[in-house]
Amino acid sequence: MTTNDSRKSALSGSDPQEISDRLGIKPFQGRQIFRWIHKKRVFDFTQMTDLALDLRTRLAAEFRVCDAEPTVTQRSSRSRGTRKVLLRLADGETVESVLIREKDRATLCLSTQVGCAVKCSFCATGLHGYKRNLNPSEIVDQALYLMSEEDFGDRTPNIVFMGMGEPFRNYDATLKAVRLLMEAEGIGIGARKITVSTAGEVDGIKRFTRENWQVRLSVSLHAANDELRSELVPLNRKYPLKDLMAAVHAYGAETGRQLTFEWALLNGVNDREQDARELVRLIRGTKASVNLIPYNPVSGLGYQSPSRERCIAFRDALIDRSVACTLRKERGQDIDAACGQLRRRTEIVSG
Ligand code: SAH
Ligand code: SF4
Repeated sequence: MTTNDSRKSALSGSDPQEISDRLGIKPFQGRQIFRWIHKKRVFDFTQMTDLALDLRTRLAAEFRVCDAEPTVTQRSSRSRGTRKVLLRLADGETVESVLIREKDRATLCLSTQVGCAVKCSFCATGLHGYKRNLNPSEIVDQALYLMSEEDFGDRTPNIVFMGMGEPFRNYDATLKAVRLLMEAEGIGIGARKITVSTAGEVDGIKRFTRENWQVRLSVSLHAANDELRSELVPLNRKYPLKDLMAAVHAYGAETGRQLTFEWALLNGVNDREQDARELVRLIRGTKASVNLIPYNPVSGLGYQSPSRERCIAFRDALIDRSVACTLRKERGQDIDAACGQLRRRTEIVSG
């Protein structure tokens, strides 16, 4: 029995109310179906044993559970527990997502688009350009599959929208997916455990500022002057640092929430002491913390990761100037854990 007949529409992207409305069934039945999909992560309607048999039969005939189907799963040999899945979508496109485990914490890294039109010069996702937006079900399916067959104990995982794609270029579907992941009848992830990362879509940041919730925001900066940033993140030509930082300040002032800046450390490009000083000057007054990511090299793009010593020196230069920051461990490089890399490898292999 397949749950992935592409002519049928999926239910994983609908909330309990929408499920009952779509099927013309009672609200409690919509909640039951939602629980089977999101809480129990059962991908086969016939196994939803507390539903009436005729409802199960109708569901199997008319719908499918998810829009996406797992194809390749990689587990990292070096970073125990890191797991990456490549999902095939109904139209044959593929999308990737990662589960990262560290001590007692698990983080799911989800994609929002197939490819990405922003085309940052160091990023594997941008290399093949943009294909299309994901719909809410294709976004939550990634979490459902990553969480299936995994034990999280009492703690729900963190979620970061740091896979393929620019979330704020697919704003509505991303926010719908966030709401589904937070839904109490389902996975029930707390808003503060979810982070949406943007390359600097200022219009999206402004919309996000008006959302009445505690979901976190992360801004991928990578450079603190317009010349370098336009080279690394071409979106900077549309929204230069002056506009981006104005939106960041407004976000802080209007929501009172902290945000994080992402900074991929590129050897000899943005990892010098003067880069650290420039960064400190730029973000002064924002109450933000900085997330340093040692670059995960992408073949053919010409960027290298700095040595561990250089990464630590950069971090210390920020800490010395009272900027809160974390330096990520390089993790899962053997399973291509940075965005877009597993999909690319598969495309190269499959010709
Ligand atoms: N499009 C969004 C979210 C996805 S990328 C954004 O750009 O913010 C998530 C983060 O990973 C971004 O900060 C991005 O710049 C960074 N990144 C992309 N490729 C990387 C690589 N090869 N090594 C390290 N970080 C990378
Ligand atoms: Fe797109 Fe983010 Fe990659 Fe830039 S870093 S190309 S915005 S996915």
